[in-house]
Amino acid sequence: MATLVIKCGTLVLPKETLSNVFIHAQDGVVTQITSNADVPSGAVFVDAGANKVVPGFVDIHVHGALDHDTMDATPEALDTMSAFFASHGVTSFLPTTMTAPRAEIDAALLNIKMMMSRGTAGAQILGAHIEGPYLNVKQCGAQLPDLIRPANREEYCAWFDMGIARLITIAPEITANADMIDDALLANVAIAIGHSDADYATAQRCFMRGVTQATHTFNGMRGLHHREPGTAGAILANDNVVAQVIADNVHVHPGVMNIIYKCKTADRLALITDAMEAVGLGDGIYKLGPQDITVHNGEARTKSGSLAGSTLTLDTAVRNIIAATGCSLNDAVTMSSWTPARSIKFGDHKGNLIPGYDADVAILNDALQVQKTIVGGRVVYERKDV
Ligand SMILES: [Zn+2]
Repeated sequence: MATLVIKCGTLVLPKETLSNVFIHAQDGVVTQITSNADVPSGAVFVDAGANKVVPGFVDIHVHGALDHDTMDATPEALDTMSAFFASHGVTSFLPTTMTAPRAEIDAALLNIKMMMSRGTAGAQILGAHIEGPYLNVKQCGAQLPDLIRPANREEYCAWFDMGIARLITIAPEITANADMIDDALLANVAIAIGHSDADYATAQRCFMRGVTQATHTFNGMRGLHHREPGTAGAILANDNVVAQVIADNVHVHPGVMNIIYKCKTADRLALITDAMEAVGLGDGIYKLGPQDITVHNGEARTKSGSLAGSTLTLDTAVRNIIAATGCSLNDAVTMSSWTPARSIKFGDHKGNLIPGYDADVAILNDALQVQKTIVGGRVVYERKDV
């Protein structure tokens, strides 16, 4: 019966900002927001001082960190990632698999399932994002083209039957891939268009069939041309689609981030990192599956020069999107927490801090650097040099 009280000078929520309030949480769930302290004896008391208290960030597309990757399929990999992400304000995430032989994806998903029941040191695992192998080789990016394949019902049903998949990225212009949409929806798996060469009309048809999200908008997809608006144009135009954005100023120019923000608004823009194992480390040679990846000035590229994931953290993404768009912190928090949570159907208990929601909290200073991270009412990260 753990009780937590957080004294907030400023509580920044997706749609409002509250001053001088107290968040009360019991057993990891917010019970009330009050203006009086009333700290019960035995409660853990956190005074956020002059900092800003926000809902913890939710990263729905992230591969690795600190020399570890989801595809390592080891408990240490997910534990390391979980602790690292927490130090950047992330309170929950979807470890993301990539195109690989079936046995390797099976192993990665089984490991995620095992770690969800065991629990992790930092950010909580909400499930898996399966990125590939049902993609289009024309837009493979750093996904291995030789292993990209059309959707196979026996294969993906086995993955869905594990009960942990929450998001799958597919190229739905390929008939077998579009044919899996109904099965995914029945299994409660959200579907993102990505690594796709769909033209505008095809993409719009896929959105009508149940694709509700777009993986790293503008990257690994047919771009926007004024006579053929492409996959990217369809994503910008369709209000039923949440656009993931890697806001690192490398994958998309800040000017394009601003265009996406204006088209989608914060309610349909989900900040992601798409981070790979080099995040948290310096420049050098790293791995993405069997491929060597060179990281130079924080940019990760394959031998052929394709961008291969990022070295972005979500707190930096928040600062970058504010710089690119001039949006409010409320909107930034919407894009880092509320929209991603809703996009994978966790909007009833994640991504906001109101009664009934999980006590997942990030505390940021004026420069929006993470000072403290709380997951399920438990402090999992505290900045040391303050
Ligand atoms: Zn990815």
